[in-house]
Amino acid sequence: MFNYADFLGQKACVLGSGKSGCAVAELLAAYGMDVLISDSNPNPQLQPSLHIEVETGGHTPHVFTCGFFVKSPGILPSSHVLQAAKAQNIPVFSELEVALSFLPKDVRVFAVTGTNGKTTTTALLGEILKHRAEQEKKGQQVWVCGNIGNPVSQCVRQVQPGDIVVIEVSSYQLEDSTYFHPHVACLLNVTPDHLDHHGNMDNYVKAKGRMFQEQTPQDIAVLNAADAICAQLSGQIKSEVRAFSAQPKHWIKTDVFFDGDELIFSQGYHLHPPKLIGLHNVENAMAAALMALADGVDSEDIQYVFDRFAAIEHRIETVREVNGVTYINDSKATNLDSVITALKSFDNKKNIWLILGGRDKGASYEVLLPYLKDHCKQVLSIGECMDKIERELHGDFPITRCDTLDKAVIYAAKHAVKDDVVLLSPACASFDQFKSYEERGNVFKELVHEL
Ligand code: ADP
Repeated sequence: MFNYADFLGQKACVLGSGKSGCAVAELLAAYGMDVLISDSNPNPQLQPSLHIEVETGGHTPHVFTCGFFVKSPGILPSSHVLQAAKAQNIPVFSELEVALSFLPKDVRVFAVTGTNGKTTTTALLGEILKHRAEQEKKGQQVWVCGNIGNPVSQCVRQVQPGDIVVIEVSSYQLEDSTYFHPHVACLLNVTPDHLDHHGNMDNYVKAKGRMFQEQTPQDIAVLNAADAICAQLSGQIKSEVRAFSAQPKHWIKTDVFFDGDELIFSQGYHLHPPKLIGLHNVENAMAAALMALADGVDSEDIQYVFDRFAAIEHRIETVREVNGVTYINDSKATNLDSVITALKSFDNKKNIWLILGGRDKGASYEVLLPYLKDHCKQVLSIGECMDKIERELHGDFPITRCDTLDKAVIYAAKHAVKDDVVLLSPACASFDQFKSYEERGNVFKELVHEL
């Protein structure tokens, strides 16, 4: 467990100078600690404030003179520098764990993780809790942070006793978080993703399991009853489990189900889910509602937020209709499972032109085949992994190599007919051609607006 007082007089080494690296460095420096940021990238984009020492383009032996390391989420657990630190018994903490150690005592922590749906569920829960706080007028603030965009380290400095913190947590952040204790924790689903980072599925599941490790019987765990790994983890969880399922088949008892129209809760409440595309968003709404109900939020307050909640940018976001063709931006779909989710959100009309590709993340595209056959006309491949896509679809589905997003949009616009859908849901990371999935989605939207 990270405790600032244990390292007084020692220097902190923060690995990685991204958003959360800089934020945690500034947090530690604000508490008077000497901090070194070390980044293997020769030209990192973000620069922390002036009083923090920075080394770039590699890690010098100087890092091993530090009392402890803080790992930015993106640093590979297998990286040389981390292995060397561990071999020298230098403690390594996650940015999440360090940040949370600075929270005032009387703060409730809600955390959402899962392979897919984290941002939507976190945002929805944040809105519900904010709405309640506004109604109650007791001055309570709700801070929504983490993977959703603003690092926890940046947010903790403003949190006051009695506030609520809602954190979107990725598996990268859970790694090296040996002490993480959310009062209400949710695991939405676990499917193969980030295997390039974690090495194998076991390590990935282990990281996700860290959500519940420190919970006590007074805490709440919200799980997806239709997810086999959630069900498997439920046996080891010490807190009170509440489960949801939008699927007819599930492994553990549920506290809420979907009748095709309403969410029906075992306590007797009926709620209409937000008007978002896809059954997966019904699951996200169920999870957010169970977390809010666990904290005593009124069902009317949840319904109020559900009725006003709009799709989040880059997540099955309708951009525009041109000549009867609908263009949809799902740039956030950076793994195969979210592409399958997106395809399943549409009827089986075989009318989708799917823009697929980018930087490969290790899993096989073959799993897409049945969904492509049900829903798509063609795959328009882009980016680094076009050859791998072709190999793994075995010539079983028509693919047009487009290389780049602009060529794919132009090709689709030329060949799509009325009632077709052009869907950017790439199943890949964006870093081969873009800075981020946001940039990829924004470029797609600009291209569509130019049509
Ligand atoms: P995350 O933050 O985990 O990446 P988002 O809420 O940003 O999740 O959604 C990203 C994409 O993941 C969506 O566009 C959709 O394709 C898919 N998705 C969202 N929620 C779920 C869910 N509950 N189950 C499966 N896939 C989902």
